[in-house]
Amino acid sequence: MAILPILRWPDPRLSRPAQAISRITPEIRSLAADMLETMYAAPGRGLAGPQVGAMLRIFVMDTVWKESERCPFVILNPEATPASTELLTRAEGCLSLPGIMAEVTRPALVDLRWTDLDGQPRTQRFHDFAAACVQHEIDHLDGIVTLDHLSPHARARAEAEYIP
Ligand code: ZN
Repeated sequence: MAILPILRWPDPRLSRPAQAISRITPEIRSLAADMLETMYAAPGRGLAGPQVGAMLRIFVMDTVWKESERCPFVILNPEATPASTELLTRAEGCLSLPGIMAEVTRPALVDLRWTDLDGQPRTQRFHDFAAACVQHEIDHLDGIVTLDHLSPHARARAEAEYIP
């Protein structure tokens, strides 16, 4: 396993969509292990492929490890659908935008479908912080960062504060 360098915005790879994973190769397993190690070392709660320059639809997530035991997820080819009309706004940090907290409004409850590292289809409902994390990481797979959710005024203010 290895700790990978995390790209910082405005690296252009953070603004490009990632490709679906068609086959789970040893390279994909190794990438997933490295991404988990990189996320825990950062320290962070989520990390998407493009953030380490892997333009593939993969992210890793563990929303609880800072408070309790590790509970790692490796998510391939995710698809999230809102499971309620309720929205939540929270200040989101991002390992690719150090020092920037951006207020993002998202559905409070999502159903996530994905493929796990054994190639099995999985579904699970995520709420609150975990729902925001899932949607934040899927954004990365679509070339979207938190700044892209801000109004022009709020974005200009955040960019003025940002030191890459
Ligand atoms: Zn991020």
